[in-house]
Amino acid sequence: MIAVPDPIPRIRAALLAWFDASGRELPWRLGTEGARDPYRVWVAEILLQQTQVARGLHYYDRFLEAFPDVQALAEAPVEAVLKAWEGCGYYARARNLHRAAKVIVQDGFPGDYGGWLALPGVGPYTAAAVASLAFGEARAVNDGNVRRVLARLYGEARPTDAWIQARADALLSPVRPGAWNEAVMDLGATVCTPKAPRCAECPLSAHCAALAGGTPTAFPAPKVRAAVRMVQAVAVLIGDEREVVLERREGGLLGGLMGLPMLELGPDETTGEALAALCKRLNACPGELLGQVRHSMTHRQITLHVYAAASNLHRQVVATAVLSRLDHKALELLRTRQEGLFATALTDGSSV
Ligand code: SF4
Repeated sequence: MIAVPDPIPRIRAALLAWFDASGRELPWRLGTEGARDPYRVWVAEILLQQTQVARGLHYYDRFLEAFPDVQALAEAPVEAVLKAWEGCGYYARARNLHRAAKVIVQDGFPGDYGGWLALPGVGPYTAAAVASLAFGEARAVNDGNVRRVLARLYGEARPTDAWIQARADALLSPVRPGAWNEAVMDLGATVCTPKAPRCAECPLSAHCAALAGGTPTAFPAPKVRAAVRMVQAVAVLIGDEREVVLERREGGLLGGLMGLPMLELGPDETTGEALAALCKRLNACPGELLGQVRHSMTHRQITLHVYAAASNLHRQVVATAVLSRLDHKALELLRTRQEGLFATALTDGSSV
């Protein structure tokens, strides 16, 4: 019987050679391989969860400019941290970063996987990423990119988390664990992409079962997604572009953030009824409809009917408030409307 050579060393060598030649230059990859700056890696891994790198870079630069090191982050008021996080969504991540920064300032940066895992907001993926990239610990990361690359490499349509972790652990380079993790992330993000993998340029093509079978994009099979719930809500805009009435929301819909006073419609409730109930709570007089805005969240699609209203309630400065993207869209209605009035006045020849 002819012994079949173990493909793992050749897979490692091929991917690491490709990474050395074609790896991405990213702002958190400053420093030597396996000894990156832990603060920069940690912030990047938290910030880029649910966000593509190209879009997240702007947010990352803005956050690092506001808080260049862990000391600055720990000493900042939480409102300033949330403000710097604006647009990234999932604000619990920013609160946890802030809480963890206070722990780090007191106890120092954790030097291993277990220490990172114990910090607020740090899960197995982030702990493995920081431990390997910044401290050279042999921990394999497991995220969506890794799942896709390994499912295709081994031709597994329905990989479980345990299956992926076992394959990732077996493939991890014991000599260059940080570089290996960065290489798999880069391959998944730039070559082995979800819809159009560039197999002709892939360093793993000679080993890839999905490519050999002729259907790379069939791996992994799509996950069954939870149904998206359609939500209708009304909001009132009391004030102007600079100052508006804001309140802190409670409950599942953008809870914890400041925003325009808002009320979700109940079953069979009309927008008029919800508007009346909202204005009664605020002791406000309802005005005209400014427009509708739509906003998608992971399991919800919100249609927000935005009305003008009048009241003596205290107004807050928009520029310094931490608002969701939904609220920024609602405020945009006011600006668009005022521009429209301005244009109409100019067309009429009247002054504004
Ligand atoms: S050969 Fe194609 S499908 Fe296989 S790992 Fe490379 S890019 Fe992905």
